[in-house]
Amino acid sequence: MDKILSNVKLFRGEIWHIIQKLSPTGLPVPTLKCFEHGALAVNANGFIEAVGAFSEVKKRFAQASVVNLEGHLILPGFIDPHLHFPQLDIIGCYGEKLLRWLERYTFKEETQFSNPSLSKETSCRFITELFAHGITSSMVFAATFFSSADLLFKEALHRGCRMIVGKVSMDRNAPERLLQGAEEDFDDNQALIKKWHGKEGRLYCALTPRFAPACSKRLLSKLQELKSCFPDLYVQTHHSETLEEVKWVKKLFPGFPDYLSIYERYGFLGPRTVLAHSIHATESEIRRIAETKTKVVHCPTSNLFLGSGLFPLNRFAKRKASVSLGSDIGGGTSLSPWTTMNEAYKIQQLLKENITPESLFYMSTLGAATSIDMAHLIGNFEKGKAADFQVLNIGKHRLLSRRFKTVESAKERLFAMMMMADDRIVEEVFIQGRSVYRA
Ligand SMILES: [Zn+2]
Repeated sequence: MDKILSNVKLFRGEIWHIIQKLSPTGLPVPTLKCFEHGALAVNANGFIEAVGAFSEVKKRFAQASVVNLEGHLILPGFIDPHLHFPQLDIIGCYGEKLLRWLERYTFKEETQFSNPSLSKETSCRFITELFAHGITSSMVFAATFFSSADLLFKEALHRGCRMIVGKVSMDRNAPERLLQGAEEDFDDNQALIKKWHGKEGRLYCALTPRFAPACSKRLLSKLQELKSCFPDLYVQTHHSETLEEVKWVKKLFPGFPDYLSIYERYGFLGPRTVLAHSIHATESEIRRIAETKTKVVHCPTSNLFLGSGLFPLNRFAKRKASVSLGSDIGGGTSLSPWTTMNEAYKIQQLLKENITPESLFYMSTLGAATSIDMAHLIGNFEKGKAADFQVLNIGKHRLLSRRFKTVESAKERLFAMMMMADDRIVEEVFIQGRSVYRA
């Protein structure tokens, strides 16, 4: 037996994760797989060797040491594919719709991040908050300043996070101090890519045009140049969040048939591109999003908070477009993926559509891994994937633990968690087999 296999650890507890089963028509259906008395076998490099009933896994790895987490739930780490780290401290600013909210609160706050010591201090708290909510991977907007992204990467490296980070690119329609010319932006992005892209197989760079209205054609062309030099770069931006914004985009880009065509024209669509929102996307835009395998992140707490609209999930599902869930902090009001799933469910209720607990859980785990092009590595407990997981103690939540006693199936329990759970149940978080957080 080689050294990696001789050092396998078994994490023993109740295990839940999502697998994709094929329906009779050949479509993948997110399916909840549970092992009430389960074990997750993790090798010395932090990758999964097996998952299953404890008795069976123990037979296969008789020599393995056992970490006893009986009485706890072991779930895949959550993935948040859309949030803004400089907005951590402006969650819940009262009374505005998107464009005024940006002007009145966001731009003002992000300007402060020209100060590296604020970026450093906030990065540290930001990562602690992610872990405390069971989030192991994320795709994050920094501010316009090189140092805001660089220092977040540095903290993520040190803390063991899996993270995609982008320095925001914007050269118009915001306060002067937040703007950066296309050439300087290009140089800063290039420096970040050289320093961080692919670091330790955990950290990656994303080109991050804030949204079309904040970018000149010159800036978009320079970003396109970078994308063609480094085709495996991620791209993240916002799309069609409010009707007012869609109207404004029409005025700013008169030659373009629709909002998406701007991103299309500059070569941004593709499997490593994540669009936040797309609430008001047209049928043609949804079709092109699906055809190019571009990913959409639905951010329900943000959409409700800013009054942006009700996300038409079914229209995307019909075209087989990939949609996952994100918090969009600080437009969003909670970092907790449970709360995000909760609000996503309610939005579909208002639209008179139904969404299953499995689909919601998928959209925060395996589906979110797909949206950041990492489904081969994370999202569930298939053999060979990285052991990114959270250990939950339902006993920490009085009402929820009482509720667990009154419901029978794991599916009902999962749904009750979506309606009631929060960060108090997160006890420990592991990334690639290594403990990175204890409550
Ligand atoms: Zn956002």
